[in-house]
Formats: sequence, structure tokens, C-alpha cells
Amino acid sequence: MKNTTVLISGASIAGPALAYWLSRSGHAVTVVERAPALRPGGQAVDFKGETHRAALERMGILSEVRRRQTGGTDQTIVDADGRRLAVMPGEFTGGDIEILRGDLAALLYERTEEDCEYVFDDSVTSLTDTAGGVRVTFERGAPRTFDLVVGADGIHSNVRRLAFGPESDHVRFLGHYYALADLGTASGNVMYNEPGRMVALGGPKSPAFLVFASERLDYDRYDVERHKRILADAYRGMGWRVPELVARLPEARDLHFDSISRVETDRYARGRVVLLGDAAHGNTLGGFGTGLAVVGAYVLAGELAAAGGDHRTAFRRYEEILRGYARVTRKGNAGPFLAPATWRRIRMRNWIFKRRFLLRAMLRITDRFATDIRLEDYPALTGASTAP
Ligand SMILES: Cc1cc2nc3c(=O)[nH]c(=O)nc-3n(C[C@H](O)[C@H](O)[C@H](O)COP(=O)(O)OP(=O)(O)OC[C@H]3O[C@@H](n4cnc5c(N)ncnc54)[C@H](O)[C@@H]3O)c2cc1C
Repeated sequence: MKNTTVLISGASIAGPALAYWLSRSGHAVTVVERAPALRPGGQAVDFKGETHRAALERMGILSEVRRRQTGGTDQTIVDADGRRLAVMPGEFTGGDIEILRGDLAALLYERTEEDCEYVFDDSVTSLTDTAGGVRVTFERGAPRTFDLVVGADGIHSNVRRLAFGPESDHVRFLGHYYALADLGTASGNVMYNEPGRMVALGGPKSPAFLVFASERLDYDRYDVERHKRILADAYRGMGWRVPELVARLPEARDLHFDSISRVETDRYARGRVVLLGDAAHGNTLGGFGTGLAVVGAYVLAGELAAAGGDHRTAFRRYEEILRGYARVTRKGNAGPFLAPATWRRIRMRNWIFKRRFLLRAMLRITDRFATDIRLEDYPALTGASTAP
């Protein structure tokens, strides 16, 4: 595999995790990222159970992830007067280890930047799969040919669109939108609901985190001013501190707005192109995306090494293993849980948090999904990673 060249699109979690393993097993790796630099901070993401921990341990980053962890803080659900209704425990939203997405991405980047080529501020514009490799053109850089191309560029994957077809064929809208923003408000860690709408302030996800139910909306994903207007409309007339927050929207910093959606692909690979992480099986706010990304990266690199570079066999094995493990992403929808549709459902959701036994049962179920895979011990990877 010394001469196998791999282009990875996306430098968040899945991309650099795969870059780590592929460079260890002798591939020449290039990572292209649309953002002009690594994106710092961002929402908190989490790892659950021993499989996720084992994947981090095998990369040699478990202790560093622990050192940088956030989380563990409870969130208080309040009524319109700010009185406590229930408490969402930190372990429920934050798994076993919680870390800011940007901190994890930076850690993976630090471990790979010397051995891999990173190209920021660029994006793939076309992929032509030929017998000898994939001819790739870029927005800025000169065309190049790679043996393999990996789409690790998130739920709205560019590589998936170019190689598998339009997003509308692969991403299902789940009836809700969310926004992360810094609205400059004093925090705490509180959450308030009215039917179909939720606002959380000071929680681990972001200074302000909003979720609301909606019909599908027509908007440009990069038009932040339009996002602010959508939010102002969606939150008009809501109680608690929301009028103050809506008034602050025009000055919002770091606003990120998107739909809650689920990726539904019927395959992860086509020819020499393969999908990894959210691009393959994302489910917004589903709670498993980061663990799946690091486990998927390990399995994909391991299968490529085990198949001696025969990408067809490796991609088939990777998909067989990952599709079963990722089936949890096909089920859930965080929208109705975070922003229940009626007052009755809001009360029912809050009631669950007052019953320790129900919470423990829910945590056991998530743990079962997170550990429902047997990680192979790929010698080409682990032999290298455990070397002194
Ligand atoms: C608010 C929120 C809370 C979350 N909480 C959790 C949680 O608690 N637990 C959990 O496990 N997961 C959580 N997630 C999900 C988690 O962030 C993702 O599952 C995880 O980051 C998947 O990583 P990824 O690398 O596959 O994709 P992403 O993190 O989406 O990264 C995709 C990368 O591709 C880049 N990119 C996009 N387009 C292009 C292009 N055209 N060319 C080049 N690069 C491109 C992007 O800039 C980005 O760097 C949360 C997500 C959100 C939004």
C-alpha cells in the first residue's frame, strides 16, 4: 500500500481519524477541507461505552480526549417563570466522555499533520472514476488523480452528491430545524419548551441551542441573515427569556443553522469512492455520530490493509460491518424529544427525567447500541499503533 494515494474530503472527525490509520498503514493521504482553517470550538460531542473508548485507545488519544473533556453538567428544564420542572442529567446528553467537536478535530489534526497533506479552503468539483484511479478536479487546486476517494464531508456530503447523486435522494428531512449561536446572554444551563419549540442556554452544545418543528423551508445554507429571519419568525410570541433572545438575533455570533435530517444511503461505496462518518449514515443530534465516525475510520482502514489494497473487497467488508453497527442512526429523531409537539408530550418527556430507573434503562439501551460490534485486531494498524 506504499503507493496507494487516498483523497479524503472533510477535516472534522471522520476524515482525520481515517487519515491517522491510513498513514500508519503506509498510504499517501491528502485531506481537502472546504473551510479556510480547522474550525475551532463547535458543539460538544460524546463517546459512549467500551467500543468507542477502545477505538480512541488504539489511536493513542484516549487520555488526551479525557484531559480535554467538557461535560458532565446537568441541564435544568424550566417553566416560563424560570422555575425548575426537571433535570436532564449530564450523563444523558454527554455520554461517558464529552469533548468539543473542534477540540477533537484539532487533536486528530495534530496527530496527522506531519504525515498527511492537508489542503484547506478548497473543495472537489468533479470525480471521474477510471480503471487506473479517480480523476479529481478542485475549485482552486490543479486536477489530480488518486487511487481512492473518501467522502468524510458530513451530512451534506459533496463527494456523495458527486459520486452517488443528488442530496434529495440520500437525505431525509425529519421535520425540525436547529440553530447554534452565541447570543451574548448570561447562561446557567437551562432549557425551556413550548409546543414544537425549544431553547437551551449555556448547555454543552452551544451558548444558545434552538430546535423547532417546521415544514421544510426554502433557504440558502450559507445565507446567515436569512437564517436569523427564519429564527425570528419561528420564535415569535414565545415566553420566558425568548423575546430578549430574538431581539439579540441580529447581532448573533457563530450562528449555525441546519435541518435535523437523516442520511439514508443504500450503499457506502461506488467504484473507488467510499463514504465515511455522517456522509454515510448521519442523523443530526442522534447522539452516535462521533463514535461511529472513529470506529468506521478504524474499520475502513483495517479492511483496506487486510485486503492488501483490494478496495472492492475492503469496501464490501467495511460496509457489511458498519451498516449493522450504524443501524441506530436509521431509527431516531431527536427533534420530537427536544421540542415535543404538545404540552402533554413536554410533560411526559420531563416526567422521564424524574424517574431514575427509566433513565438508567435508556442509558443501558444506548450503551448496547454503542457496543454492538466486535472490533477486529487488524495487525497492520494495531501492530503499528502499539509500537513504542
Ligand atoms: C448540535 C450538534 C450536536 C451534536 N452532538 C453530538 C453528540 O452529543 N454526540 C455525538 O456523537 N455526535 C454529536 N453530533 C454529531 C457529530 O458532530 C457528528 O456526527 C460528527 O462530527 C461526524 O463527523 P464527520 O467528520 O463525519 O462530519 P462533520 O463533523 O459534519 O464534518 C464534515 C467536514 O467536512 C467539511 N466539508 C463539508 N463540505 C465540504 C466540501 N465540499 N469539501 C471539503 N470539505 C467539506 C466540513 O467543513 C467539515 O469539516 C452533534 C452534531 C450537532 C450539529
